[in-house]
Amino acid sequence: MIKSRRLNTRKRIALVAHDNKKKDLIDWAVFNKVVLARHELAATGTTGKLLEEQLDRPVKKLLSGPLGGDQQIGSMIAEGELDVLIFFWDPMEAQPHDSDVKALLRIAIAWNCILACDRATADFVLTSPLMQDDYTVHIPDYSEYLKRKIH
Ligand code: PGA
Repeated sequence: MIKSRRLNTRKRIALVAHDNKKKDLIDWAVFNKVVLARHELAATGTTGKLLEEQLDRPVKKLLSGPLGGDQQIGSMIAEGELDVLIFFWDPMEAQPHDSDVKALLRIAIAWNCILACDRATADFVLTSPLMQDDYTVHIPDYSEYLKRKIH
């Protein structure tokens, strides 16, 4: 069982924004374009398309969130393929894929993924000296859970 994971200086960042939060995320990303250029970016489909246009750089685009993109990002987190999740979810509007939103937030916590859900936290994450350094993420030990007896 892996109990830690080494993050490189070049982080793999996933970005997701609900429709009412897309402008906020794009503004934030454009403001931080220079710093973001040091990292790899992935995003749900529509968010990724907007980011590519505004940042003028490639972004790994997954499916649109409600069509499976949130679940793809959750899968990448569980497989150790992402280091940071910037997820501007909308607290004021129900989403057709609320169950996927909840699942993504849950899996991010389950794997101790670096997670920012608003602009202020995203600012603190991006300006952390640890973003430009190697870092060891401690992953909860699920070995006892995996060994549990099923009666
Ligand atoms: P979108 O998905 O970027 O494809 O709009 C965002 C979301 O998960 O709702």
